[in-house]
Amino acid sequence: MRIALATGNPGKAAEIAAVLAQIEGLELLPRPEDLPEPEEDGASLRENARIKAEAVMAATGEAAVADDTGLEVVALGGAPGLYTARYAGPGATFDDNISRLLSELDGVADRRARWRTVALVTLPGGDEIVGEGTCDGTITEARRGSRGFGYDPVFVPDGGDGRTFAELAPEEKNAVSHRGRAFRDLAARLASRAG
Ligand code: IMP
Repeated sequence: MRIALATGNPGKAAEIAAVLAQIEGLELLPRPEDLPEPEEDGASLRENARIKAEAVMAATGEAAVADDTGLEVVALGGAPGLYTARYAGPGATFDDNISRLLSELDGVADRRARWRTVALVTLPGGDEIVGEGTCDGTITEARRGSRGFGYDPVFVPDGGDGRTFAELAPEEKNAVSHRGRAFRDLAARLASRAG
């Protein structure tokens, strides 16, 4: 089975390949370099993942895998959710987004949050296979750590030793993260379909 990656982000691609490589007979293909990013205007993480996978499937003719992720903060009524990537506005950097989050939560005692990832494979012919993963934790009051990406410096997963995602080694993060869980869920579903 051949599956094209919808992400062009090398860090993410490596994380995804590490999980999906365990499926025997699966060949991962890179995202075509000149393909523009589609607009992610779906009403759910699943729809956005489907939009990204279908764009790559249309360009390559191959099955494609994509993921979409959102951060749901309890005290913010589930925001930023679908808008996590552009929380501080269009073109926001990771640092802009963290600054907005910390300022929204300034003085707020309830700092619980949940990451949610939907990982999805679209198959030529119209079928899709979906995996989901969540990771519960809390938002810190200040940035800590320099690893990872995005909101990692301000998210402490539950059940750990209090380090943020940005203070964890990549394999430690992957073992508990929303994306790690979503892709392991997807891999199990793909493997049972392949077998
Ligand atoms: P995407 O759907 O993977 O593009 O992610 C949406 C937003 O969540 C982007 O701003 C990412 O930087 C952020 N994000 C996704 N996964 C993680 C993570 O594991 N740690 C920190 N930020 C993340």
